Amino acid sequence: MYDQGLASWMDKRRQKSPDKIALIYGEGDTVSYRQLADGADRVSALLQERGVGRGDRVALMSENSPEFLQVLFGTVQLGAVFVPVNTRLVGPEIAHVLRDSGARVVIHEPDFADKVEAARRESDIEHVILTGEGDADRPGLSALIRTATPGHAVPELSLDAPAAILYTSGTTGRAKGAVLSHRNLTWVALNTLVDYDIVSTDVALMISPLFHAASLGMGALPVVLKGATIVLERGFEPGRALRLIQQHGVTMLSGVPTTYQLLADHPDWASTDLSSLRKLTCGGSAVPTRILNAYEERGLSFSQGYGMTETSPGATSLSPEMTRSKQGSVGLAHFFCEVRIADENGALLPAGEIGEIQVHGPNVFPGYHELPDATRAAFADDGWLRTGDLGYLDDDGYLFVSDRAKDMIISGGENIYPAEVENLINDLEGVASVAVIGVPDERWGEVPWAIIVAHGDAPITTETVRAHLEGRLARFKHPKNVVLVDELPRTASGKVKKAELRARFASEVEEAERGG
Ligand code: ATP
Ligand code: MG
Repeated sequence: MYDQGLASWMDKRRQKSPDKIALIYGEGDTVSYRQLADGADRVSALLQERGVGRGDRVALMSENSPEFLQVLFGTVQLGAVFVPVNTRLVGPEIAHVLRDSGARVVIHEPDFADKVEAARRESDIEHVILTGEGDADRPGLSALIRTATPGHAVPELSLDAPAAILYTSGTTGRAKGAVLSHRNLTWVALNTLVDYDIVSTDVALMISPLFHAASLGMGALPVVLKGATIVLERGFEPGRALRLIQQHGVTMLSGVPTTYQLLADHPDWASTDLSSLRKLTCGGSAVPTRILNAYEERGLSFSQGYGMTETSPGATSLSPEMTRSKQGSVGLAHFFCEVRIADENGALLPAGEIGEIQVHGPNVFPGYHELPDATRAAFADDGWLRTGDLGYLDDDGYLFVSDRAKDMIISGGENIYPAEVENLINDLEGVASVAVIGVPDERWGEVPWAIIVAHGDAPITTETVRAHLEGRLARFKHPKNVVLVDELPRTASGKVKKAELRARFASEVEEAERGG
């Protein structure tokens, strides 16, 4: 059974720690590992009744809930493939995911009924099941699994069988379905256990949506593997999150920089006892220094990490002890993972030189769902993943991420990495968020512009921004122009859509030139 990947986890947990609390949710309701495993078995049974078997896709559209994990395990232990859908997506994006994945069964919260119905045309969807209790005509998942008889056929599975399809965030265009195998998800959980030092007494507060690769692969899965406890929040409400940390003695928290910013900005921040916290993990983008400082004042430091959906997603991590001495780094490759830097021709680069970050290991995905060309393009000749991100390794093997290759600005032959400029502008008072992009320029080819969302009264102008950067950053990297906007265009995962900004401002520049 050990080579069955995720398919055996629930059985194992039921045997090893049946009465241990797996989940705490709502106003303190609990689910033991025995109950979680029984729930998963019942989901398997009812999916099997509907003809779901090996390789079939089961999509779930739900906020965090105990059902989320039951559906995940109930699906993968049939050898079927779990497709969690980002609930923040808009109608056509949801339709894309449901159709592209070829889901046969869609399980969704009642709120998404219209969107699922719209996606049903020209799709492979055969069964639609509501989460929760449903009603007399249409019993929901909770009602159905109470009456389902646990017991399903256990398929022979290879570790290379697909377990999930997770869609990338789509900053570069249409979201691609990254197929993650049982091997990928098992090893990312093991890497997380080892490098974030997870123990069975840990209590992890889950405030990020489980449909994200990070919350799933590095949040929920390692905690379940270890038999620790998840405090599962339906969504993120900073005041409630602070209260839960204190109430349940939460030891682990994971999120993106914004999550941590919102917690630190909450009025209850100062009065909350945070002494139980041992591990804060943060990924997705660089953590601004002002956030690092706010947590350091409370004796808390971060493990920062780098990765992507295609690496399930953890590729590297920086331990809290190294946060200061390796400031700006995303750390070392995970225990079972390797990272290298290559130039455009694929030649390996020595320490200190910037090139493409490439990743190799059991957490690296086999390819995109039904996109053979994109899959081929994602791998170097010897099978290493080409991330499309630029960065360098220092002499000790610590990775520094410069930026996405597609976002790099070349101005008068000099490379500018927008992330570096953004990190400094972020520390300027009055800046809520910033995106630095390249716009076409007759003399320099491209010049950097800063697109800023301001808050408060501090004046944000091209002059104040340039003055702030003076002495901190070479002049050619200073934005030639600062544009204030009400908000930045973002993907459903909160990432800035730079391609959209570039298109918008490139056409503004063109118009201005034409106009005189
Ligand atoms: P798409 O591939 O569809 O354009 P995406 O790449 O944003 O979307 P994800 O897989 O969610 O989708 O994001 C991974 C990317 O996020 C990485 O390739 C990298 O560019 C960025 N990233 C992740 N962690 C960090 C980090 N610690 N610092 C800087 N950038 C990071
Ligand atoms: Mg990507």
